[in-house]
Amino acid sequence: MSVVRIAPRSGVAFVLQQGQLLRVIDPEGVQVADLLAFNAADVREAISNGRTFDYEETIALTAGNRLWSNRSNPMLAIVEDTAGRHDFLLTPCSEATFRHFYPEQPVHRGCFGNLSEALAPYGVAPDMIPCAFNLFMNVAVAADGRVSVEPPTSRAGDFIVLRAEMDLIVGLTACSAYASNGGSFKPIHYETYGDGARTAGRAGE
Ligand SMILES: [Zn+2]
Repeated sequence: MSVVRIAPRSGVAFVLQQGQLLRVIDPEGVQVADLLAFNAADVREAISNGRTFDYEETIALTAGNRLWSNRSNPMLAIVEDTAGRHDFLLTPCSEATFRHFYPEQPVHRGCFGNLSEALAPYGVAPDMIPCAFNLFMNVAVAADGRVSVEPPTSRAGDFIVLRAEMDLIVGLTACSAYASNGGSFKPIHYETYGDGARTAGRAGE
């Protein structure tokens, strides 16, 4: 498939078969993309930041790490990563977070609203949306535990490649929040490739 453009402040959902690869590109730099994954056979199984931190023993996830589900199954493997900086601590931006953090700005439905709409046809209700894996998002954690959202360090053309470890429904956005994206809203590009289950276990080795 060719590269698909996600317009600024919008989102999509699509099927990614086991063994297929997903490349997410930050075409202009300094732009976050929220990623969600659900088991295509049972969308009650979803990516879990807590399980992932448990099994990967780090919050700094990059090539060589896997993203795990709430049922302790690997869902995605990170096989390539030119950006090297992502976040799995913070939730998708939403109407409520806009009211909280940006009371002077117009309210936007944010990644949460975009993901809710894109995932609804697959049977994912808004309350089923977990903490997203926030590609290119730069969240600093201080020694005292305080967290702060900093501008992404991703440069134009940086990308991450993930391999599906099971058949997935994937949600993906171009993030809508001011602080997460260095104050401006850019598109995100992605492509899926590979033959599905037949290449499982080969790609990325
Ligand atoms: Zn967002």
